[in-house]
Amino acid sequence: MATLTAEYKKSVKKVPVKGMMDNVMEQFNSAADQINLHPNIKKILSITNNEIIVNFPVKMDNGDVEIFRGYRVQHNNALGPYKGGLRYHPTVDIDAARALAMWMTWKTSLAGLPYGGGKGGIQLDPSKYSQGELERITRRFTFALADNIGPEHDIPAPDVNTNSQTMAWMADTYMSTRPPAERTANQHVVTGKPDGSGGLEGRDRATGFGVYLTIKFWAEKNNIKLNGKKYIVQGFGNVGYWASYFLEQDGAKLVAVQDASGSIENQKGISVADLFAYTKAHKGSLLGFPNAKVLDNDDFFATDCDICIPAALGNQITAENAYQIKASLIAEGANGPTNVEGENMLLERGITIIPDILCNSGGVIGSYFEWLQNRNGELWQLDEVMVKLEKKLKESFENVYKYAEDKAMDMRTAAYCIAIERIEKAYVQRGIFP
Ligand code: GLU
Repeated sequence: MATLTAEYKKSVKKVPVKGMMDNVMEQFNSAADQINLHPNIKKILSITNNEIIVNFPVKMDNGDVEIFRGYRVQHNNALGPYKGGLRYHPTVDIDAARALAMWMTWKTSLAGLPYGGGKGGIQLDPSKYSQGELERITRRFTFALADNIGPEHDIPAPDVNTNSQTMAWMADTYMSTRPPAERTANQHVVTGKPDGSGGLEGRDRATGFGVYLTIKFWAEKNNIKLNGKKYIVQGFGNVGYWASYFLEQDGAKLVAVQDASGSIENQKGISVADLFAYTKAHKGSLLGFPNAKVLDNDDFFATDCDICIPAALGNQITAENAYQIKASLIAEGANGPTNVEGENMLLERGITIIPDILCNSGGVIGSYFEWLQNRNGELWQLDEVMVKLEKKLKESFENVYKYAEDKAMDMRTAAYCIAIERIEKAYVQRGIFP
């Protein structure tokens, strides 16, 4: 592995980090070239089908009215209804929503699901609002989107800073505004609902479990034992927590964590359960966690470890820090955490990346199970869900791994090629209306 010298660090040009849309388009174009994608289909997939922007007023606790801006981008529905999360975060804008919607199209296609891709959210910092305000914001956003979403048209789900409670409010608002006879039949307008309200047992852990499984499958292929391996996690939300939980059960050691509040390290190991309990008691923040030293945020990716799991936001691993990474495996729990420049540096250094559209696809696969459960009036048990998830992820992983080996390409390009070829086939079979 390259030695990390101060000279090298200085020699790295400070290039402005591009937007997520540039990133996903570069990834798409390079895979499209590999498979000689038909130029007409390339044109179709390069644009988003629909972009919905809604501005809506919400009454705050102090009686003032605040105006919010919400987004829903529907990229492509050649394979089925638009599917993808809604996030509440200051970085949500039209560029981010477009890129994230596109990633959903590739993700659902790669997983072999009957879905297209969509994404959206609201540009806000949820920590600044009370629970009551968040409920009113969510309900009003749902009302504003209502004509553009639907259980057979566009099905939102949780994403960054949204959760099963957010989905329960959305489902309730959507159903309450339908004619009485249609109400319960519309429960699958969103997935990721709580267990007691049409949610799927295990949907909470589905994404993190999938991240863990793809790491496990990769380790098996490479005759590596997870027991004793060190891993670092960026983002200790739903995905970061559950991935850590399952890795710890296999004997791997969590040695550093970064969240929005800061970074901590302990090379002897951080207890996942203790850190989870601590963050729960401290408004989701790891700041002040005992038994770990505070790490400079800029040094987080340089931590000594075997596996690095970015499970927070996009554009985190770039040319600015890719040279520091000590891990030999990057498992992308987040969407778009590695940009193209960062990825090229990692690949040159022989570091493997399990790409987001494979690595974090357990979430949308879990969503698909929830949607089927609601549509068929069934209730699935947790053990059944976990077995089905593992089967589906294994299939996807094997497809990508084999494609990458056969064509001597990296796993991201392989995953894109498989995903795009499936959509291309649907267009070729159906033709273009009229
Ligand atoms: N937000 C998750 C993702 O990015 C889940 C999407 C879904 O379940 O529809 O994959």
